[in-house]
Amino acid sequence: MQIFKKKQYGVINLPKEEEKDIPVVPEGSWVKCNKCGKILYKKSLEENLNVCTNCNHYFRLGSYERLALICDKGSFKEFNKDMATKNPMNFPNYEEKIKANQEKSGNMEAVVTGECEIGGNRAIIAVMDSNFLMGSMGTVVGEKITLAVEESTRRKLPIIIFTASGGARMQEGILSLMQMAKISSALAKHNEEGLLYISVLTDPTTGGVTASFAMLGDIILSEPKALIGFAGRRVIEGTIKEKLPEDFQSAEFLLEHGFVDNIIERKDLKTVLSTLLKLHKSKEV
Ligand SMILES: [Zn+2]
Repeated sequence: MQIFKKKQYGVINLPKEEEKDIPVVPEGSWVKCNKCGKILYKKSLEENLNVCTNCNHYFRLGSYERLALICDKGSFKEFNKDMATKNPMNFPNYEEKIKANQEKSGNMEAVVTGECEIGGNRAIIAVMDSNFLMGSMGTVVGEKITLAVEESTRRKLPIIIFTASGGARMQEGILSLMQMAKISSALAKHNEEGLLYISVLTDPTTGGVTASFAMLGDIILSEPKALIGFAGRRVIEGTIKEKLPEDFQSAEFLLEHGFVDNIIERKDLKTVLSTLLKLHKSKEV
């Protein structure tokens, strides 16, 4: 009898790893929220002003995305668009790094400046871009912001600066640090003319930018939950040998302690800025 000869089971031939059907997702259609981990449809995310529809986390915006949200359609005219960084300290591989960041961000540098209208009110605006070398402040960033401030002083216009920065740009050494003083002096002259400066802090605003013009606004606004600080948590804890509060360096903590005037949701920013400009309207020349 051959009762054990016949196999009592079937064999399924599994496809090899590379032959398996992998669902094709069009590139760039989905984004993962780095706060809650939810996968979001990019279009819905953009329609929600790049705020996570699940957990309300604020995605960082590039300069032009921000300008599109804030300025009246077609009103933005850019200043010094092609001003680009040289390598003043001959820092190794700096030129390559700049080039890669220009391609990645679509910006020549970590700030875009220009004039615009917000709710029909004319203003000079500067928007820093954390996608470009972490929004670090080098000579060109400093020069573009200074020129924008000087233009607003000359034309008796208010200036709005959106900050987003990892701090001074180490590849430009001391020349980066002097930008803090240069921008601050230009703002002092703007202030002497009795003109309005609104500073809008976005995630993250740190280092030399916080230590200078970010905190000089006549009115200082912030987006919710933005990280705002000078030195990092580990550096401070290491220096003062003390544990810092959990929400330390958040916009909410700074509001509570009087460093920020108000926290404004992204969807309301344009209306708030427009109202503030209207209230402080000066005679343009
Ligand atoms: Zn989320």
